[in-house]
Amino acid sequence: VPDNWWQTGTGAAIGLAAPASLLVGIRMHRPHRPGLWWMLAAGLSCIAAGDLAYALYERVLHQSAPFPSLADVLYLAGCPLIGFSLIGIVRTRTAGRDRVSWIDATIVASGFGLLSWVFLMAPTATSNDLPWFGRLVALAYPVWDVLFLALLVRLLAGLGARLPALRLLAGASALWLAYDTVYALVLQYGSYDQGLLIDIPWLLGFVLFGATGLHPSMAELTQPVVQPSTRLSRRRLALLTGASLVAPVLLLSQTLLARGRVDGIAIGAASMLLFLLVVLRIVGLVRQVEEQSEQLAALARRDGLTGISNRRTWDSELPVAMDRARRDGVPLAVAILDLDHFKDFNDQYGHQAGDRLLKSATSAWSSMLRTTDLLCRYGGEEFSVLLPAATTDQAAEVLERLRAVTPQGQTFSAGLAGWDGQEVSDELVGRADRALYAAKAAGRDRIVVGNHQPTARDHQAAAARPR
Ligand code: GH3
Ligand code: MG
Ligand code: MG
Repeated sequence: VPDNWWQTGTGAAIGLAAPASLLVGIRMHRPHRPGLWWMLAAGLSCIAAGDLAYALYERVLHQSAPFPSLADVLYLAGCPLIGFSLIGIVRTRTAGRDRVSWIDATIVASGFGLLSWVFLMAPTATSNDLPWFGRLVALAYPVWDVLFLALLVRLLAGLGARLPALRLLAGASALWLAYDTVYALVLQYGSYDQGLLIDIPWLLGFVLFGATGLHPSMAELTQPVVQPSTRLSRRRLALLTGASLVAPVLLLSQTLLARGRVDGIAIGAASMLLFLLVVLRIVGLVRQVEEQSEQLAALARRDGLTGISNRRTWDSELPVAMDRARRDGVPLAVAILDLDHFKDFNDQYGHQAGDRLLKSATSAWSSMLRTTDLLCRYGGEEFSVLLPAATTDQAAEVLERLRAVTPQGQTFSAGLAGWDGQEVSDELVGRADRALYAAKAAGRDRIVVGNHQPTARDHQAAAARPR
């Protein structure tokens, strides 16, 4: 296809329309942090101007552009502007909370970077066709593409990828990245023919960047995401696996195919980087699992409504406390509390008022107990209290204090039992429970101490005692 002014003009118009669309979008949709959009527009303008400069060398000066030229200055000025605006978007969306996704992005970029080094950067760096400055400029492109890939992966990782503006932005970035890579490969290994067809993905990239700015969801793109997802989705896992396999696969294929030429240093360095990143990732995941299991364990021991310990905690703590009491030779008392006529309270004030009373009562009682005491929600409106190192008399005093602070004139009945040093936990609690029934039967709003019914074992012990 012969190049002509019409084609040059169309290309320039499409290129410049992209930053213009961003500016229109800023005015129309009033995004939070418009500076990021301005920066992106400036970057795109530089790239579009670079294209124009490149074309004008041929149109006006009738020579192909020298390398490096003004076009390269403009291109390489545009890249950091685009890069920083993308970093800004990511940081705004995650509010700096999602480090894991940066690690993932770096893992993918390292794999790609190794390939880029072996097939693009190393041949350029050692090429004799260019002076050192030209080589440096030529290297800047593949280096930028590796960074660009990291940004692209980061943009798509857990940032609400369903947002249309984000999809457009990612699509534009992906197109350019693919185009850049193919272009560089063709330059390195083939011959680039200023064809229209091959330029279409490039121009389409500009169109998608422009559409990003015009889409109403662009304003949301520079807003924090409510809940960035760090889920290890199947796609993310595949990407990480693929990136991690780049180094060994390259080593294998070079060893098997490329007779003698193995990029050992590059492959070794990239493998080290990848292993370190993967270990960092594992450490993060293990920490997360540990934290969550601690949180779960803590949750499983608490009652959801009142926040005090639940029956499960009671069942595990009581035998431990009995063991300790036996070892230390100190007394131990347990009590079961049951609110009086609580059904009536619910009927009169409603179930939610009943819930509030359960909360205020438990918090009032907790404030009257020592930290070594244990108050549990034993069932609906029944509570159990464990009082280590307390005699039955002392425990009765504590229960009287609880009675005094029970809110809203609500009363409770309680059964109290002091441990005899012999019985197992079920027997002890059963004795407190029977005392509770006795308290209810005797008219409620009182504390009854469960007396100890002598068992056959006690009789034997008494008989064996020396007189
Ligand atoms: P008493 O114990 O004095 O014999 O009378 P009661 O009305 O309290 O009778 P009982 O202990 O059998 O009834 C318990 C009532 O406690 C029934 C239920 O409506 C209420 N209850 C249990 N759990 C909850 C809860 O989580 N929230 C509320 N609001 N009420 C509860
Ligand atoms: Mg009751
Ligand atoms: Mg009850």
